[in-house]
Amino acid sequence: MSRSEELSTNLASVRERIEKAAAAADRDPAGIELVVVTKYFPVGDLRRLIDLGVRHVGENKDQEAAAKIAELDEQERAAVTVHFIGQLQSNKAGHVAGYADVVQSVDRAKIVSALAKGAERHDRELQVMVQVDLDGRDPGRGGALPHDLAPLSRAIEAAPRLRLAGLMAVAPRGADPDAAFARLEDLARALRVDHPGATALSAGMSGDVEQAVRHGATHVRVGSAILGPRPTP
Ligand SMILES: *Cc1c(COP(=O)(O)O)cnc(C)c1O
Repeated sequence: MSRSEELSTNLASVRERIEKAAAAADRDPAGIELVVVTKYFPVGDLRRLIDLGVRHVGENKDQEAAAKIAELDEQERAAVTVHFIGQLQSNKAGHVAGYADVVQSVDRAKIVSALAKGAERHDRELQVMVQVDLDGRDPGRGGALPHDLAPLSRAIEAAPRLRLAGLMAVAPRGADPDAAFARLEDLARALRVDHPGATALSAGMSGDVEQAVRHGATHVRVGSAILGPRPTP
């Protein structure tokens, strides 16, 4: 099987999982975007995925992402929305603003101001999601604590070139993803009281797409179920 055939088969089975989960939750699958996480895989795979109709890709390391995105030709680049999903340092955020369309991993005020400045400098507009730390026990994975969501969201809305799209989270290690995403769904509902336009909810990876869809995910971020085991960087 060629690499394209392998990617195509895996894409079809992930899309089927999303459709089944949507049907079970009585949701329209059209409201769920598949973000294919291409981190650590070469730009050739990114191209194959674009050819196969993938319209959202996710990357999590600034240097790697910038290099791969720069290799796409104009038509390929125009075909995809690039999501940055990795932990951000404030000295890198301005650079990410130069090529990402959506930044899903904003978790502190310093990152908001660095992104806002970067967006200004690059003359771009960015959609921003606030990453939530759902249990506060694994700070290494990033994320804002729930009580910081309101002030962060206001800071994003106040920045001229940033648009608050919604929330993102990773199910905490060892936690029941159903319980974690139920909590995320509550936080997303509360956020929409003050920010009715912040309708995006990014949750779910290869192992917990079904639970995420059950709890209202509008974006699932799937890597290994489509690309296979990640090469070591
Ligand atoms: C790598 C990564 C994913 C994809 O993980 P898989 O288990 O390979 O699907 C999703 N979200 C984030 C934030 C990631 O870093």
